[in-house]
Amino acid sequence: MAGAILTQQTTWEKVEETLDELRERNVLSPQSIVGIDQSALEQILRPCGFFRQKARRLKALASYLVDRYDSDPRPLLEKGLDEAREELLSLKGVGEETADSILLFAGNRPKFVAATYVARVFTRTGVLGSSRYGEIQRFVESSLAPDPAVYAKLYAKIVELAKTYCLRRPRCAACPLRPTCAYGLANEEKEGVPYQR
Ligand code: SF4
Repeated sequence: MAGAILTQQTTWEKVEETLDELRERNVLSPQSIVGIDQSALEQILRPCGFFRQKARRLKALASYLVDRYDSDPRPLLEKGLDEAREELLSLKGVGEETADSILLFAGNRPKFVAATYVARVFTRTGVLGSSRYGEIQRFVESSLAPDPAVYAKLYAKIVELAKTYCLRRPRCAACPLRPTCAYGLANEEKEGVPYQR
């Protein structure tokens, strides 16, 4: 759950480093996050960027779990999917992507994370005409069986593709999706750059 908060606007590598640091200092349980001084937490979160905001959000989530769930997030994560999502979304600083990341990766619940990377790859390839979060999520969830492992793997593959090839300035010439990608094919025609296997 902490990872879902920390990953906003940064790389997963930075998040892992920071989670390791929190673990090493024994500051990963809700009680310890509530107990640590705000400025001390900010210093630990500094490598993740937006560290003041993230420290506030992490503390808010931790104190919610302490107050409402006696520090055990499982009863929240095991609620009906819609109910759990609504509850997470009601917390300060938790948007759709964060709530869904918590449900999928912390709760192992079948909720697809329709992050920006997914929108970019889906719209460029022509899989979907819309980049709206809800539409992408509905499309995936209505196309696949509700299996968290499949959603997590699809998400990881899309993120990998987006970070390797489908960057803001895409590297279409070497991308494995180019033979069927609407954007890649249009680019090939325009620029005459052949697909490189
Ligand atoms: S071919 Fe280009 S636009 Fe299409 S998915 Fe690959 S990198 Fe992205």
